[in-house]
Amino acid sequence: MGPVGVLALQGDFREHQQSLERSGVETRQIRKPADLTAVSALVIPGGESTTIGRLATLYGMIEPLREAIISGLPTLGTCAGLIFLAAQVVRDSPPLLEVLDVVVERNAFGRQNDSFENPVYVEGLDSPIIGVFIRAPRVVRVGPDVRVLATYDEQIVMVRQGNILACAFHPELTDDLRIHEMLLKMREEN
Ligand code: GLN
Repeated sequence: MGPVGVLALQGDFREHQQSLERSGVETRQIRKPADLTAVSALVIPGGESTTIGRLATLYGMIEPLREAIISGLPTLGTCAGLIFLAAQVVRDSPPLLEVLDVVVERNAFGRQNDSFENPVYVEGLDSPIIGVFIRAPRVVRVGPDVRVLATYDEQIVMVRQGNILACAFHPELTDDLRIHEMLLKMREEN
């Protein structure tokens, strides 16, 4: 199976590479369309979604990423990655991939609560994970094909739509590999 591609335009892509490598898979940094050749899955990291969107536009990556994901490439987006995958952002219109049928609100947990950690129950996992939230978005609307996998404080913080998995928190900043393993398992469903 090909390496797992990690979009490396901005954000914490190295932490994702470390988690994936600890799960026993090879990774590849993705910056230009040709880098997507033969990858078996894709991760879009946390960071700053506006910057990721701008750089993706600059590097001609919007269409190639969109096509790869629409054609079934297993994909995980975390935090800014969730925003970049979304169909729409509340009160804002940064460049988006528009492949995940959700509306998100950025920085949705308030100023005082900029960053926090909280246990999060994720459907399919038998014990909670530590959700690391850093100026995290929340999902405010989901389309009919989107399954909600986790909520925190009554807000939707993790979803799945077919081959796309996305969460508002940062599994790559913990030692817990279970979210990355969910992505790796999706490669076998393909
Ligand atoms: N607030 C950031 C954004 O809107 C996301 C933060 C993160 O990825 N930790 O892009």
